[in-house]
Amino acid sequence: MKCPSCGSSDTHVIDTVREPSGGIRRRRSCKACGHRFNTIERIVETTPLVIKRDGRREPFNREKILEGVRIACAKRAVAAEDIERLVNQIEARVLAMNVSEVTARTIGDMVLQGLRELDEVAYIRYAIVYLNLKDLESVKGEIERLLGER
Ligand SMILES: [Zn+2]
Repeated sequence: MKCPSCGSSDTHVIDTVREPSGGIRRRRSCKACGHRFNTIERIVETTPLVIKRDGRREPFNREKILEGVRIACAKRAVAAEDIERLVNQIEARVLAMNVSEVTARTIGDMVLQGLRELDEVAYIRYAIVYLNLKDLESVKGEIERLLGER
């Protein structure tokens, strides 16, 4: 840590105080000029990059997941708070993975899993887009798989 007064990097920590906000404050002193200064450390929540199907990366975007789920649930009897809860759970799970990158597929599977419990029609809508179901036959297959799991 460089001294803000003289620029020397020869500084040492005098003491360390835990802040109510969860951060850590360190009082430091410069060995070169004697200047005293404080630094604050806090946890920066790191959100992973999402690896898309084509290999491109984009920042994890909660709004984008929310949007997809909302569209799937349009005009279905799904409470807005259930949608919020689902997206919150997915975000929490992704953060808990504590990885720098996560595939869009992993996130999509979480959405599908959650939607299946919320609303089967919303699930099928999402699956058509997400699993890229191209024809009635594959949609039928997916519905049958769903019915079979009941
Ligand atoms: Zn200094």
